[in-house]
Amino acid sequence: MLSVRQIEVRYEGIAAVRGISFDLAAGECLALIGPNGAGKSSTLRAISGLARVSSGAIMFSGSDISGLRAHQIARLGIAHVPEGRHIFGPMTVEDNLLLGRQRMGDLSPSQGLEMVYDILPKLQERRGQQAGSLSGGEQQMVVIGRAIIGQPKLLMLDEPSMGLAPQIVDTVFELLGKLRSAGQTILLVEQNAELAMDFAQRCVVLGVGEVQLTGTSAELRSRQDIIDAYLGTF
Ligand code: ATP
Repeated sequence: MLSVRQIEVRYEGIAAVRGISFDLAAGECLALIGPNGAGKSSTLRAISGLARVSSGAIMFSGSDISGLRAHQIARLGIAHVPEGRHIFGPMTVEDNLLLGRQRMGDLSPSQGLEMVYDILPKLQERRGQQAGSLSGGEQQMVVIGRAIIGQPKLLMLDEPSMGLAPQIVDTVFELLGKLRSAGQTILLVEQNAELAMDFAQRCVVLGVGEVQLTGTSAELRSRQDIIDAYLGTF
């Protein structure tokens, strides 16, 4: 479904992503892991069109999307949940969710909401509440709900566990597990390597702007050298 080929992302001439390549099949969950500044967020931003790719190609369902604008890429079915919880605080939970529909829109608003509430019943209870008054975990659910209401072919999540209490992280990953079981293709950036390896079938370990290892979670667990060098000890 997605093939990232030798992409490079530069900020003011300095390469943050230096020839990264990986593939993601439909229905697969892949995690991008690695230390701070390795280029994980920049890779997601390149795929969703928020960062310009200076060389390389990003093939999505057979076409190169690397020159397209972010809104065009979103319309093709790539949803990007960026780091931090970007909700519209004064708006209700339901209105925040409905913003995601503008990206695609196969479902009517009520069908879309029904689908989200089916997976996230807690949000239904809070539908009329101002999103800004929710807890951090609930806000994370809203941004994920807003991404899936557009029924993306590829869901990309940047550090969904960031800043959440461990128990809430479990709830977020329970939700992601439900999506994975439903066949959702997921590209996850996660600082917590243990969590990422548990969740994803395959992992790509980034060092400074470069791929250090691509393999199944089991393969990665057996590479203590890579774990020590790039993921800290756990
Ligand atoms: P983190 O977990 O800290 O977000 P990351 O692996 O996601 O790390 P990126 O955020 O992609 O890494 O950053 C890669 C490199 O690019 C870093 O050196 C960072 O300082 C730099 N960088 C990121 N965004 C910009 C920007 N807008 N302008 C200049 N440099 C940037």
